[in-house]
Amino acid sequence: MKLQRISERIRIYPHEKYRDRPALGYIQGDAFSIAVDAGHSANHIHEFYAALEKEHLPLPSVTILTHWHWDHSFAAHAANGLVIANSATGKHLASFREKIKTEGTAYFLSLDKTIQREYEDTEPVITLPDLLFENQLYIDAGNCPVHLFRTVSPHTDDATLVHVPNERVLFIGDASSGVFPSWEKDAALCRKFAETIEPLDFVISIRSHSAPETKEEFMQDLWEDC
Ligand SMILES: [Zn+2]
Repeated sequence: MKLQRISERIRIYPHEKYRDRPALGYIQGDAFSIAVDAGHSANHIHEFYAALEKEHLPLPSVTILTHWHWDHSFAAHAANGLVIANSATGKHLASFREKIKTEGTAYFLSLDKTIQREYEDTEPVITLPDLLFENQLYIDAGNCPVHLFRTVSPHTDDATLVHVPNERVLFIGDASSGVFPSWEKDAALCRKFAETIEPLDFVISIRSHSAPETKEEFMQDLWEDC
């Protein structure tokens, strides 16, 4: 799979349905690069890095986790540089690591068919983030400010959004989805989430498991769904 260019400084490595791999974001500053989400497994992140190397782009020095779910975070152990997440994501990863240790890998594989496909020939490895923040964090990757902030979400209680104001791009992660595995949505949380992002200045929104959309398309879908 090839990288897809979103704006001057932003690319994504597109999502894949079969193994439920989310799109991985790439933000290229003048000083260093940032990835949005680590990916489903070491295999996934290695494919992403190979695609970057093919285009002579530097590997990310920093990887931001949008939330703790395995398909976004379990490649963190193979990430180049530092991994950043909010403190709730760190807590969820620590307790899920304990759960897998106690109940075994079979428990993890039983959660979903797409996990069995991803982990056909490899074992899950869970590492905790290197840096934690509480509510928000500003990073300047070199003439490229990036704002990460925690938000309410109908998907999980640890959603981090990544806003790149100069590029007018917002990474949503899975924050607009319902809960795994029923995908049911709490209407109040959904409305609160929509009200949080509506005032933000962005023209492109990137959800993890679908193609990038305009803000108008995304907001319209979101309000209809709430
Ligand atoms: Zn998720």
